[in-house]
Amino acid sequence: MAALSVDPVVDPSLVRAEAARRRSFAVISHPDAGKSTLTEAMALHAHVVSEAGVTHGKASRAASLSDWGELERERGISISSTALRFGYGEAVFNLLDTPGHADFSEDTYRVLTAVDFAVMLLDAAKGMEAQTRKLFDACQRLGLPVVTVVNKWDRPGHEPLELFDAVQEATGRVPVAVNWPVGHAGDFQGLLTPGESTYLRGQAVDSGAHRAREERVEGASDPRLEAGVWQAAVEGATIAAELNGRFDRQAFLAGTQSPVLFTAAAGNLGVRPLLEFLLHQAPSPAGRAAVDGAVRAVDAPFSGYVFKVQAGMNPAHRDQVAFVRVNSGVFDRGMDLQHAQSGRPVLSKYAHHLVGRGRQAAATSWPGDVVGFVNATGLGVGDTIHAGPPVVFPGMPRFNPERFRVVRNRDAARHKGFAKGLAQLEREGAIQVLRDAEGSPGGPVLAAVGDLQFEVATERLRREFGAEVALDAPLPYDRARPVPAPGVPELAGVTGVQLLYRPDGEAVALFPDRWKLNRTRELFPHLFPDEPPTG
Ligand code: GDP
Repeated sequence: MAALSVDPVVDPSLVRAEAARRRSFAVISHPDAGKSTLTEAMALHAHVVSEAGVTHGKASRAASLSDWGELERERGISISSTALRFGYGEAVFNLLDTPGHADFSEDTYRVLTAVDFAVMLLDAAKGMEAQTRKLFDACQRLGLPVVTVVNKWDRPGHEPLELFDAVQEATGRVPVAVNWPVGHAGDFQGLLTPGESTYLRGQAVDSGAHRAREERVEGASDPRLEAGVWQAAVEGATIAAELNGRFDRQAFLAGTQSPVLFTAAAGNLGVRPLLEFLLHQAPSPAGRAAVDGAVRAVDAPFSGYVFKVQAGMNPAHRDQVAFVRVNSGVFDRGMDLQHAQSGRPVLSKYAHHLVGRGRQAAATSWPGDVVGFVNATGLGVGDTIHAGPPVVFPGMPRFNPERFRVVRNRDAARHKGFAKGLAQLEREGAIQVLRDAEGSPGGPVLAAVGDLQFEVATERLRREFGAEVALDAPLPYDRARPVPAPGVPELAGVTGVQLLYRPDGEAVALFPDRWKLNRTRELFPHLFPDEPPTG
């Protein structure tokens, strides 16, 4: 007899309380700023919420790599995204991992749609780096609050005020000091809180294996500080406050201020103050707006949306995982769910909490948590699933690709695998697949934001789908824009512009250069509304 599955009746105040405990965020940084080190250092302060390993370092990653992970290992990059969950105080932190490589900025963007704020990690010696700026721009587009963390303060680096200027210039947000380093970069003695006479004196510990020893002491009378060090720190913090003001939570949440904290993550210094700050000041999940503008409150019945689909995570099973962020209500394994886009039921029996690369049967998840749906075929990036009253959240915006190459299947006998593989990569958003009006007899066009995506795509077609493929030389285009259906006949005759089509039929126009794009936009302004000319 089929078991009757009844949606659990959950006390809305319990859902609100669980949501209020959640801090769901991502760390954005240029490679080597110390993201892995900071993550490990945070995990040292955590109490385990789930049993699976909480460590997240490169060593533990390497140990659990899946087969297409070999590519990651060979290239020394992190391509996939997972969520790390840990308890701190009364809070539950969900730290979502973002790929470090610039070629995967679209992936990173998707992860950022699933968090409530971001931590922007800077290297004290390098300040705002290229990739940090790019990732910040994504946060800006998404309206995310951003906490700035200046890392590697144990190494020589810029003056704090120089770093503040760089942050303001690059982000337009006003940096305000939550704490201030005692000792210049390279001589990290501890952290003061602006306006207080004491400071948190820290002693670095080796390689982040232990929590730092920290004690609160009077700054002015601490004999361990060299002459002038305390005075300089107090002055620095005072000047920063006079210039930029003090931390204001509303301004932080509105994205006009970015609170700044200092760390030496490798020595675990400043990590606990960072966690305390996130615990007390960072936002918890709030209701999310649906496509019709109505907000699905966190205590409404369950809803979530797919921010990432990834295959090949478990070489033994060749499975595919759809990562779902819980937007409202409670998720229980086995509950009845619907896929909003198709109206079809979704199996929740095989859902897992995502913890590092490991998995754990998902029992109960709350707003802000990430649940992995294994082999829930039909779930695509940007899709909504729900229980109870229907809701559809806005889909995932696509990045405009900048590189285009025809892909050819070299073994006709493997045509099925080739077609299946392309469909899978397209569904995951790993790469875009375009065809011409004739269905591309020469081969479909792979469209990417970064070159590394081509490498990953061809490698995955080979390893996962047994398809040996060859890529033609890059097509002579470096920009693309979606075209509304009525505009297709208008653009069809324009020389130098090529029209291709996505699997869902949407047309995309390819342009050889900025000049051609701008010129086309001048001629057909109605086809490209609200878009500034590209510089
Ligand atoms: P990621 O690429 O951003 O994940 O950076 P990692 O965490 O792998 O760190 C890059 C390098 O910087 C490693 O050699 C770390 O040991 C080092 N590192 C990270 N944090 C600190 C720090 O606070 N102080 C110093 N001196 N080195 C650090």
